[in-house]
Amino acid sequence: MKIVVLIKEVPDTWGERRLDLETGLIDRGAAAAPVLDEIDERAVEAALAHADAHPGTEVTVLAMAPASATATIRKALAMGATSAVHVVDDALRGADLLLTAEVLAAAIRRTGYDLVIAGNLSTDGGAGVIPAMVAEVLGVPQLTGLAALEVSDTMVTGDRVSDAGTMRVSAELPAVVSITEALPEGRFTTFKGIMAAKKKPYETVDAASLDIAPDDPATARYIMLSVAERPPRHAGIKIVDEGDAGEKLAAFLIAEGVTR
Ligand SMILES: Cc1cc2nc3c(=O)[nH]c(=O)nc-3n(C[C@H](O)[C@H](O)[C@H](O)COP(=O)(O)OP(=O)(O)OC[C@H]3O[C@@H](n4cnc5c(N)ncnc54)[C@H](O)[C@@H]3O)c2cc1C
Repeated sequence: MKIVVLIKEVPDTWGERRLDLETGLIDRGAAAAPVLDEIDERAVEAALAHADAHPGTEVTVLAMAPASATATIRKALAMGATSAVHVVDDALRGADLLLTAEVLAAAIRRTGYDLVIAGNLSTDGGAGVIPAMVAEVLGVPQLTGLAALEVSDTMVTGDRVSDAGTMRVSAELPAVVSITEALPEGRFTTFKGIMAAKKKPYETVDAASLDIAPDDPATARYIMLSVAERPPRHAGIKIVDEGDAGEKLAAFLIAEGVTR
């Protein structure tokens, strides 16, 4: 079985993150240290857990990311992935969701796959639609937002949890799935794993070798019209109850324009 895991480099969630107000992209200079997105570590873990139980399983990690993302991608190799594909091309800088999905799908096709595992939502872009779009471009079934995952030789099955209940869903392979934080955390890397990662296959490809023309005017692209920094947050108003809290609250709501 061949599993491709989609991994994205993101700024560390615990550090300061900034948008470049000129481009609308992450200000990589000012942003916190780049890391492998935690949800994608879980996606790698899901693939490796299957590989542990099924010798012969190949796990390829795939990222479309700037050239500087090499160390982040190697972390997935150090966790135990078999090989890595890094799509890197300056013409893809600022790629919108459709172009990203097209690029990832082309790289997946080129690599070959039975199953694609992704995170359900990146911690920076946060669109939450790349896995579904990749499945659509590949023309295969998608099971998104899975809180449990089982893989057999021919099928993938999982649980989709919503406020209304839990759906048990399954699809024939090949398929694309995305997983949630309900799945186990990624395993720690070991010194042995880090050393082994240095010798694992690491392929770098550009858009042209995937037959993708980033500037093709025939393809719909979204255009960013403007970008603005989030306004600073102001402290709220604290109402102390001295027997008149209800009146003060009503006066506050009226002043804020809340009417019947
Ligand atoms: C040179 C260059 C610069 C880039 N700069 C930025 C940037 O500044 N900000 C930014 O957000 N993106 C950047 N990207 C990546 C790309 O534009 C986004 O990944 C894309 O828009 C996906 O949006 P999302 O994270 O909201 O997707 P979501 O749908 O929220 O992602 C869900 C899941 O899809 C998979 N996935 C998403 N994106 C990728 C990817 N690129 N590679 C592999 N798997 C992926 C992951 O498994 C992820 O958990 C850059 C890419 C390149 C080549």
